Amino acid sequence: MSVPVAPSSADPKIYGWCPGALRPMMSGDGLVVRIRPPFGRLTSDQAQAVADLSTRFGNGMLDISSRANLQMRGVRPEDHPRLIAALRTLGLVDQDHAAETRRNVLITPFWTAGDRSHRLAADLVARLASATDLVLPGKFGFAVDSGDVPLLRDVAADIRIEGDGANLMVRADGAEAALPVGEDSAAEAALALARWFLAQGGAPEGRGRMHHLIARRGPPPSHDATAPGGPVPPGNTVPPGGTLRPSPGRTAVGTLVALEFGQIPAATLAALGGTGHALRLTPWRMLLVEATACDSPLPRTASSQLPDPLSGPPLPGLILDATDPRLQVIACTGAPGCLQAHAPTRALARDLAPYLPPGTQLHVSGCAKGCAHPKPADVALVATGRDRFDLIRNGRADASPALTSLSAAALRAAPDVLTKDR
Ligand code: SF4
Repeated sequence: MSVPVAPSSADPKIYGWCPGALRPMMSGDGLVVRIRPPFGRLTSDQAQAVADLSTRFGNGMLDISSRANLQMRGVRPEDHPRLIAALRTLGLVDQDHAAETRRNVLITPFWTAGDRSHRLAADLVARLASATDLVLPGKFGFAVDSGDVPLLRDVAADIRIEGDGANLMVRADGAEAALPVGEDSAAEAALALARWFLAQGGAPEGRGRMHHLIARRGPPPSHDATAPGGPVPPGNTVPPGGTLRPSPGRTAVGTLVALEFGQIPAATLAALGGTGHALRLTPWRMLLVEATACDSPLPRTASSQLPDPLSGPPLPGLILDATDPRLQVIACTGAPGCLQAHAPTRALARDLAPYLPPGTQLHVSGCAKGCAHPKPADVALVATGRDRFDLIRNGRADASPALTSLSAAALRAAPDVLTKDR
């Protein structure tokens, strides 16, 4: 197996592709192997088996990516073939790398078996599987956001199937207008939009994103309808057309539990799976523990006799309190796990979290690439040296800093610098 390596460098590198299971990426702590469970769901047996594989072949820690994939870290290259064989047995690996790349479909985590979101995602996945001529960029992805309320507008996706009650539309990322579709034609329209993207030169040299193309030339002429907004439930402050930001707690489908920095210890994943409840991955650094216990490929509708999986002693790595300050911080892998990182990130983020005013978001990044949060944050600390951070206000990790060369010790000693204008 030839493994792409992310070289160490002073400047962040843009690779234009993401690791998969069949095409892992070498990082500072071994291979990163990304798993895309069908419909973003792990049965309880799969969760326990993946946890065991992470301990045997990786470093015993797993990440949930911002596109709701599960990422195993620290995998030794010589173990990769055995890991893939085991994942294949579990039904968690595609036939080949091309199929894995195409099946980049994110579905709203609150789907129920046989509902519109589930049917649309199943149709889209099936059509992508047979579209062997469709060679899309490695990061190119689809979102099925067709519940009653839009939830995935803040999540990276190039082609979106969005619902608004009875209405359904296909929208190119970055476009305000959309194409009205029926349920039967939505998946095919999404594939047609992907082909249009390629035909318009959206991916020169195999790289490119839809919003860049839309910014250059706008959407196809047939996309001329107003995109759906979606009703907002009572008590929620999100404006019409906005996106709800879920927080830990009970939902109609199950219980959302957050993970510090989107990371879960294998032992905690195994313990959750051991309760018999299936788990869903979300793009919000949270797991959804299904309300009803089952180990079938699809959720049951009957209620379960199993106890609440979260009623026992707290499991390491889970955040159950929606007011926990750790929910206000975002930090990438940092050093030493990422070869491009100038400094460790997560310990600093954890230590600074209690000093953040409510509602303030802090992003700590190991370099200016800002992969953990490619958007503006209220405050960003970006490592520029082994113990040097630039401070950026209301900007992305690559924006101009307000302060430079702050040490981690200085930040810990005077955390008010984060929110105090100077
Ligand atoms: S932002 Fe963090 S994870 Fe991304 S390349 Fe830089 S150091 Fe690595």
